[in-house]
Amino acid sequence: MFKALILNQQDKTTQAHIGNIDSNQLPEGDVTVAVEYSSLNYKDGLAITGAGKIIRQFPMVPGIDFAGTVITSSNSRYQAGDPVVLTGWGVGENHWGGMAQQARVKADWLVPLPAGLNAEQAMFIGTAGLTAMLCVQALEDAGITPESGEILVTGASGGVGSVAVTLLSKLGYRVAAVTGRAAQNAALLKQLGAESIIERSELEEPAKPLEKQRWAGAIDTVGSNMLAKVLTQMDYNGAVAACGLAGGFDLPTTVMPFILRNVRLLGVDSVYCPVEKRQQAWQRLSQLLPASFYQQAGQTISLEQVPEFAQAIIKGQVTGRTLVKLS
Ligand code: NDP
Repeated sequence: MFKALILNQQDKTTQAHIGNIDSNQLPEGDVTVAVEYSSLNYKDGLAITGAGKIIRQFPMVPGIDFAGTVITSSNSRYQAGDPVVLTGWGVGENHWGGMAQQARVKADWLVPLPAGLNAEQAMFIGTAGLTAMLCVQALEDAGITPESGEILVTGASGGVGSVAVTLLSKLGYRVAAVTGRAAQNAALLKQLGAESIIERSELEEPAKPLEKQRWAGAIDTVGSNMLAKVLTQMDYNGAVAACGLAGGFDLPTTVMPFILRNVRLLGVDSVYCPVEKRQQAWQRLSQLLPASFYQQAGQTISLEQVPEFAQAIIKGQVTGRTLVKLS
C-alpha cells in the first residue's frame, strides 16, 4: 500500500483526499516507478480544484509530471533502480499521475534521467522547463543563431519564460524579456540573463499590420494580441516559437508578416513531443542550466498541502516552482 492524492467527483464538484492505494490498483503499464518528486503546475491546479475541465474520469490521481526510480519493469529498456522522469502524455489527466508514491506508466512515456540531474532538480525544471527547451530548439532548427539578432521572450517571469531567458542567455543570445511585473521581477530577469526589460503594456498597444523590425526570434507564452503584435515586429526571415495562451487562445493577426517578411510561426507542444526529441532536450537542460537556477524562489510541499496550494496557484498567489515531495 502507498499514499496518493485521489480526486473524486461529487455533485459536479471535485473532491481531493489523501488515501492508500494498493499496487494492484495501478493502471496498466510496463514500468512501475517509486515517485520521489512531482511538481504543481497551473494545469494541476485546474484539475485538483475542478476549476478547469482537465479530468473526465474519476477516481483520478493528478500530477502531470514526476521523477523517481524504477521499481519493476517488463520492458527491456528499463531496469529496477533506473532514475527516470516523465512529463505529459495525458498522465495526471486521463492516466493516474505523479501525486502518489508510485506510478505505473508505459515505458515509451519515460525519459532516463540524464547524468548529473537528480529527481528534485528534474522537477524544478518540470514541464515548464522542458517546454522552454523545445522552444529554443525550434528557433535553432529555424536557423536563428546568436548572430541573427535579439530574441524576445513574453511572459518572462512565468515558468516557461524564465527558463527560456536562462537557456537563451547561456547559449549566447541577446534576450529582451517582456513582463507585466517589471517593478517586482526586472532584477531577477536580468540575473537570469535578460539584457533588456520590455513593459507588457508596450506590447498591448494595437498593432499595425507591419511595424518596425526589432526581433530575430521570439518565444511566446502569451498568445492573443501580444503574439499578434510580436509578429508585426519580427525581422525579415524571423521565427516565433508559440507555446502558450496566458493572455488568451485567439490570434487576431494578418498574413502580412508571413507573406512580406517571410516570418515563420512555429507551434511547440511538450505533451506529445516524440521521445528522441525529449531525451535530447533533457540532456541539454542538464548541461545548460547553472547551479544557481535551482536556488531560485520556490517551495517544497507535502502531499497533504497540495489541495491548499492548488487553490493558491489558480489565484496567481504562488511564486516560483512548487515541488511535491513523495518519499
Ligand atoms: P505561468 O503562469 O508561470 O506564466 C505565464 C506568464 O505570462 C506570467 O508569469 C506573466 O508573466 C504572463 N502573463 C500572465 N497573464 C498574462 C496576460 N493576460 N497577458 C500577458 N502576459 C500574461 O505559466 P507557464 O510559464 O507555466 O506557462 C505559460 C503558458 O504556456 C501557459 O499558457 C501554459 O498553458 C503554456 N504551456 C504550454 C505547454 C505546451 O506544451 N505547449 C507546456 C507548458 C505550459 P509576467 O508577469 O512576467 O508578465
